[in-house]
Amino acid sequence: MAAQNRQAEPEFFEAGALVGVLTTQPLDRVLDYKAPEGGCWRGAFVEVPLGPRKVMGVVWGAGQGGYDLAKVRTVLKVLDVAPMRDELKQFLERSADYTLTPLTAMLRLATRAPGLGDPPSMQKIYRLGSGEPDRTTAARTKVIEVLKDYGGLAFTLKELAEMADVSTSVVKGLVKQNVVLEEDRPRDLPFPRMQHDHAGKTLTDAQAEASAQLRAGVASHEYGTTLLRGVTGSGKTEVYLEAVAECLAQGRQALVLLPEIALTAEFLTRVEARFGAKPAEWHSGVTMTERRRIWKMVGQGGAQMVIGARSALFLPYQNLGLIVVDEEHDTSYKQEEGVLYNARDMAVLRAHLCGAQVVLASATPSLESWVNADQGKYRKIELVSRYGPSVMPDMRALDMRQDKLPSNRWISNRLRDEVLARVAKGEQALLFINRRGYAPVTICRACGHQIACDVCDARMVEHRFLKRLMCHQCGETKPVPTTCPNCEAEDRLAPVGPGVERLAEEATELFPDARVVTLSSDMFGSARALKEQIAQIAQGGADIIIGTQLVAKGHNFPLLTLVGVIDADLGLQGSDLRAAERTFQLMRQVAGRAGRSERKGVAIMQSYQPEHPVIRAILAGDEEGFWRAEADQRRLAGVPPYGRMAGIVISAPDAQAPFDLGAEMARRDGPLRAIGAQVFGPAPAPIARIRGRHRVRLLVKAEKTAPLQRALKQWLAQFRPGGQMRISVDIDPQSF
Ligand code: ADP
Ligand code: ZN
Repeated sequence: MAAQNRQAEPEFFEAGALVGVLTTQPLDRVLDYKAPEGGCWRGAFVEVPLGPRKVMGVVWGAGQGGYDLAKVRTVLKVLDVAPMRDELKQFLERSADYTLTPLTAMLRLATRAPGLGDPPSMQKIYRLGSGEPDRTTAARTKVIEVLKDYGGLAFTLKELAEMADVSTSVVKGLVKQNVVLEEDRPRDLPFPRMQHDHAGKTLTDAQAEASAQLRAGVASHEYGTTLLRGVTGSGKTEVYLEAVAECLAQGRQALVLLPEIALTAEFLTRVEARFGAKPAEWHSGVTMTERRRIWKMVGQGGAQMVIGARSALFLPYQNLGLIVVDEEHDTSYKQEEGVLYNARDMAVLRAHLCGAQVVLASATPSLESWVNADQGKYRKIELVSRYGPSVMPDMRALDMRQDKLPSNRWISNRLRDEVLARVAKGEQALLFINRRGYAPVTICRACGHQIACDVCDARMVEHRFLKRLMCHQCGETKPVPTTCPNCEAEDRLAPVGPGVERLAEEATELFPDARVVTLSSDMFGSARALKEQIAQIAQGGADIIIGTQLVAKGHNFPLLTLVGVIDADLGLQGSDLRAAERTFQLMRQVAGRAGRSERKGVAIMQSYQPEHPVIRAILAGDEEGFWRAEADQRRLAGVPPYGRMAGIVISAPDAQAPFDLGAEMARRDGPLRAIGAQVFGPAPAPIARIRGRHRVRLLVKAEKTAPLQRALKQWLAQFRPGGQMRISVDIDPQSF
């Protein structure tokens, strides 16, 4: 495909000329202003008056005019940052069109950190020093923990004190003792140079072949997407870092997107070892100070490589040559609040616009990417074997119907024996359950009442470690009651079903001589505590690991040879068409944790329906067959990736109004019928109530080639939701 790098000469507007400014305020249009003294470029970041306020905006192009020019106000000032390039403007426009999001909301994603005003050029920053405190206090320990959690990042005094929840004098006290270092740093310090020719690992033949293909793509300066598929441990990371090296050698910037959970210090260290310097890091934990610096340096080319979560896609790259989307199948790439976009798809769009390469890496690709590769839209590269002596584990299923376990036990006798055998040999076993907390349901044995969230259509999950009930939809917690809120019976409430904490309890009873460790996101106060626990396990500091999804990706435990999946059926319930795909991916990811060294591993799945086609496909290891069967089903149903879908969620505090509006929308579907699209619903949304708002959903289904967005726009324009009602559009919904 030809390069699509259409960077036109930027346009300059003389003082007084009419310019159109897009602000981040929720008015979905470009407003007219006069260019300030000295003029401004198209794309310039500016401050403009809006009513009584000053707001930030971007000069989007020439103004509209056509009214009394005397009333047009003047741009207050041009901010001292690089103007937005046309490529990013186009990206925002195209992604706004695609997701049916107001352009202003897209602009907000792209301006998360520039900062208004003229900050001083030097600033005092605080980082971890080498001194020991003369005495430890709780407040001091908190400061040190925060600095350790964030590795190399630096903070301002205010940020550090806020994050540690201490007064600034505590930090100052630690500075006196060299426990914390105070430094003057230029506000816009560039990142250290990454060395693309720093020696990498010696690649195997298969890896070298894959690397050569990726490097050639990057060197072409043209758009292209490659699906890099390979079992866990086959060296995908090693290979895509070669593509990054090529990109750096070409003098272009590289972006590696990871699911937030995989953004670990371990990964950063690995990148640093490869290129001799740390990359810029962009995720929810990064402070405002650091964000401002990254944002500016990315725009000036002073950051050559960014490792980040999905929002790093909206940074103002000067010359982006490569985007890697690691674990591309991960559902967290889909943002489910605010602007609903899928970072994987947006990465492809952005690469199109700037002539960059995309590498989608996964051991278990999404069906969408698999189909795209199969149809030749994406190049496909496969790494079939693990690096070194390690091999994929054997996969087995345990038919739980034969076990007759008592109702409060989940580890079958056969799985127990397997665990004991491994532990006796000094190896580790992982027992996996994809459920946080102690028990998913708390039921009253007197009246049958189940404790639910007050504001969501969800049951409260008992978290014994936190000693509270928690709603996994809205995060609300409350104490575990002793009397039933329904019938007021005393002491009749009982936990039903297992969560990771309850499984840990069972394991502790079943294996009294083993060291049992639980890994779940709720159990760790800080990222550092979690990291330390993981490092300890890797060094053999535990025999049995009880874990949630948290352990399914990334970590390498050399002694781990057995993975027991407690409930392989968990994801297969419900009518979601993606359930099979997700279960398949998750089971393969978890199984991949076993036997990452010389010792052969085994993965055992407990199931009440081992004859289920998904379980059979996992056992057979027949990925190709599984994807083909899944793809056929989707094709027959006319759903993505073979058809197009949109979910329309209508919500309001009362239950009836959304249904009524939904029914009216389904009736007046002219613009949709005109393109051959169908509307289904209204029906309760997958979660029918969140935070007190009732939600109904309509699903719109269209042919692959139909102009869905245009029709949706015309259709939606007919309805004005009144009062507290809201309509949100989700293109390519995750569940359908
Ligand atoms: P993946 O991303 O496919 O899971 P990695 O790239 O993380 O695989 O590789 C798995 C492990 O094997 C890592 O510890 C990596 O450093 C090591 N490894 C992979 N390829 C090589 C190689 N050619 N030489 C040395 N070590 C390698
Ligand atoms: Zn809730």
